[in-house]
Amino acid sequence: MDNNNHETTRPTSQQDRRAAGLAVLEKLDQSGDRAALRTLLADMAPDFADLTVEVAYGDFWARPGLDLAQRELVTVAALCAMGRDRQLAGHIKSALAAGIDRTQIVEVLMQMAVYAGWPAAVNGLLAAKEVFAAHPGPTADGHHTFHVGTTRVTVVSDGHAYLPAAMFGGGIGEQQVAELLRGRGLPTDRVRISLNGLVLEHDDRLIVVDPGSGPPESAYAHGLAQPTQGRFLTHFLAAGFDPADVDLVLVQHGHQDHWGGLLTADGSLAFPHAQVGISEAEYLHWRDVGDFGKAQVPDDVAEAARAVGRELTAAIADRVSWLVDGKEVVPGLTAVAAPGHTCGHTALRLDDGGETLLIGGEFAHHEVIQLAEPDSYVVVDADNQQSRQSRRTLLHQAATNGWLVHAYHFSWPGLGKLVPRGDGWQLRPVAFS
Ligand SMILES: [Zn+2]
Repeated sequence: MDNNNHETTRPTSQQDRRAAGLAVLEKLDQSGDRAALRTLLADMAPDFADLTVEVAYGDFWARPGLDLAQRELVTVAALCAMGRDRQLAGHIKSALAAGIDRTQIVEVLMQMAVYAGWPAAVNGLLAAKEVFAAHPGPTADGHHTFHVGTTRVTVVSDGHAYLPAAMFGGGIGEQQVAELLRGRGLPTDRVRISLNGLVLEHDDRLIVVDPGSGPPESAYAHGLAQPTQGRFLTHFLAAGFDPADVDLVLVQHGHQDHWGGLLTADGSLAFPHAQVGISEAEYLHWRDVGDFGKAQVPDDVAEAARAVGRELTAAIADRVSWLVDGKEVVPGLTAVAAPGHTCGHTALRLDDGGETLLIGGEFAHHEVIQLAEPDSYVVVDADNQQSRQSRRTLLHQAATNGWLVHAYHFSWPGLGKLVPRGDGWQLRPVAFS
C-alpha cells in the first residue's frame, strides 16, 4: 500500500473526521490488511480487527492539524508496534518521500522498544535498514534559503561524507589537525564534511551551482561516493524546484561529489534544458587527462575519476560554455579563477543590491582547519602551492570587504563571514534557524 497520494485535507467536525477516516479504511481494505486480520480473528475476536485498524491508522490519518509527514511517522510507529513488516516498509518509504529524514525514523523505531517491546523495535529497525538501502531519502540538512540583494539563494544539501583526518594534514601535520579539531570539540580521527550545492534565482534565470554527487546508483557504482551522499535531487525537488526549469548549471570543478549530479541514474541529463558552464581548463583536463596532478591518489580512485570525467564531459559536450576569470557569466555573477585544488577550479562572485556572496567552491575544505591554517592543504589538491595561494587571496578579499562566504564543504549550510584571527581567519557562521 502506497500512501504518497493521500490527501492532506484537514476535517474539522467529528463527522468529517469519521468520514475521512472511513475513506482511509477503504484504502486499507484494498490492501487486504483489515480483511486479513478479520479472517485471522473471526472466531475469537471479530470486532478487534476493525478496532485495530481504526485506532492504529484511521483515526490518526483523519486527525486535523497533522500534516502528511506527521501522519506517516505515527503510522510507522503503529505498524512497528503491530509487527506488520510489509506495511511498515511501505510506510517507511512514504515517510521518506514526505520529507521525514532517516534519523527521525530510526529514533521513533528505537522508542518503540519502550512502548511495544524490544522485539518490535528490532523488527522495525531491520525493516527500515532494508528500505534505506534502496531509498536514500532526505537528510536533516535539506535546503536553506536566504537573499543576496534581490537574488534568492537556496543551499541544497547533497548530504555529507567522512574523510580521514590525516587527509587534512598537508603542510601542518596530523598532530596540528587533531589539535584544531579537539579545540572545537570535534572527533580527531575523521572529519565530517558537508556537501552544499546552490540554487540561484537570479536575472530571471534558475541557476544551479555544483549539483552534487549524482544519484546513489551511479555515484556508488564508481566507488567514489559514500552512502550519505547523493541527495541533491531529492532536496532540490523538496525545495519546490523542477529540474526542467533550470537554465544554467555551473560546475566549479570536476570531482564527482560536485558534478556527478549532472546525470540521472540512467545516464540522461538531470537538467535537460540547462546549459553547463565550467572553465575550459577544467573541462579539457577531465576530457583528455583526468589525473590528480601532483597529488598522490590510489590507482582505483584515479581510474574511477577518469571514467566519471570522460562520461560527464561527453554528456555535456553539446551544451558547455566556458567560465572565464573576471568575466560575468550572467549580469552580477562573475567567474573568479581559483586554481590549485584542480587545475581549472573556479570560484564565483554574486553581486546584487550592494551585497556580495563569494561562492568559493573547494577553495577551502573545512572551516575549522583551513581558515585557522590557510597554508595547510588536503592531500588531493592537484597543486597545493597554487591552492594555498588561491585560498589566501580569496579569504583576504572576502574578509576585507565583509563578503558573505559560501564553501561547498563547510559545515551545513556552508555560510558565514570571516573574522581575522592570528595568521588566519575564523568563520562566523550564519544563523539559519
Ligand atoms: Zn569536493
